[in-house]
Amino acid sequence: MSEETDRRVGLVRCADYDREAVERATRRCLDLLGGMGAFVQPGQRVLLKPNLVRAMSPDRAVTTHPAVVAAVARLVREAGGHPIIADSPGGPYSAAILRLTYRKTGMDQAAAWGEAELNYNAESTQVSYAEGLTLRRLDIIQALLDADVVINLPKLKTHNLTTLTVAVKNLFGLVPGSVKIGYHAKLQENWRFCEGLIDLLTYVKPALHIVDAVVGMEGNGPSGGDPRPIGALLAGADALAVDVAAAALVDIPPLDVPTTRAAAQRGLTTGRLEDIVLLGDPLAELRVPGFRRGAASAVDPGLLPMALLRLLTGSGRENGQSNGHHSLPRMARDWLGHQLVMAPKAGKKCIGCGYCVKHCPVGAIQVVDGLAHMDTNKCIRCYCCHELCPELAVELKRPWLGRLFMGNQAT
Ligand code: SF4
Ligand code: SF4
Repeated sequence: MSEETDRRVGLVRCADYDREAVERATRRCLDLLGGMGAFVQPGQRVLLKPNLVRAMSPDRAVTTHPAVVAAVARLVREAGGHPIIADSPGGPYSAAILRLTYRKTGMDQAAAWGEAELNYNAESTQVSYAEGLTLRRLDIIQALLDADVVINLPKLKTHNLTTLTVAVKNLFGLVPGSVKIGYHAKLQENWRFCEGLIDLLTYVKPALHIVDAVVGMEGNGPSGGDPRPIGALLAGADALAVDVAAAALVDIPPLDVPTTRAAAQRGLTTGRLEDIVLLGDPLAELRVPGFRRGAASAVDPGLLPMALLRLLTGSGRENGQSNGHHSLPRMARDWLGHQLVMAPKAGKKCIGCGYCVKHCPVGAIQVVDGLAHMDTNKCIRCYCCHELCPELAVELKRPWLGRLFMGNQAT
């Protein structure tokens, strides 16, 4: 970890979304870090990047709450900056979709309260990134390229692919709409996808991350889980420090989050809470016990018998990289791996709309007789269908071998 990394994370109590209370808490949290003026200079265009993954009401806890976005926008204005709210939800990226998303997620109100601009420019650009380890080219929404400063505003939620979505994962929304599908197709293994997210982080370099953890989401996030009051805001200049603190806040070991592990392997973080400088209210008073994870988090090597673990990984290395000593051919390992990981299945709520078909990166879904069918052999377990289904109809179930070793938990 670099000597220059700012490992300070502000953590403050914020019991609910009362606008004035949120503004007071946000100000207090930033004052712990030197105030908004430490991050924003007068005249700068400041992109505020909330989590707007789906056009859903703020009370579903899927998206960053408008009270938080408005509070940050007001502080940016006070510092002399020009706040612009921008994100690219899942699905098509167009002005019409953005309009619908802003209305349903309360961003219209946030913009009015915080005197912020709403971005309707749905253009994007492909940029070269020679320093990227996994991604040397990045597709980025134009609003990012037009901004001087980025303030990341994630929601603290579980995620079936990345265990939690906080500061690092939230940046995936800067990849335009359906272009995200190509990234899932290219980076099929979870550890590679997370390495790609670390490339995105090191390219974007947000100045500041402010996490809406007033009400988070537990269970099958990022869209289909349950709201869970946490009662806190976090802020910090280093996404990895913020993610470590956020994981600790919901009592999840920080290195269980694969983006933090990917960053630790590059020496960008230790992933240890002890190395974070926590300021503000005591973590022990705000920590939420028993936060339920998503059912489909990556196979936990600790739960598998050692013989099975060796068959799967060769050396037992959990990032999926082999040491070349596999005793099973690749196809057999792939099959075995698929048997252990939750697979998507359209449930009774499916209306056969075909939205998931358009967003599956590997063409594993067909609608037959009004019901979506997922080909579990083709499926790469990216869970985009689970995340994006407008009816929340996609259930996650573990195949029989997985149930044998890891229980029968299903959604
Ligand atoms: S699973 Fe959801 S997105 Fe797919 S066809 Fe059914 S309702 Fe539509
Ligand atoms: S079926 Fe669903 S989880 Fe599987 S690859 Fe397609 S979108 Fe991803």
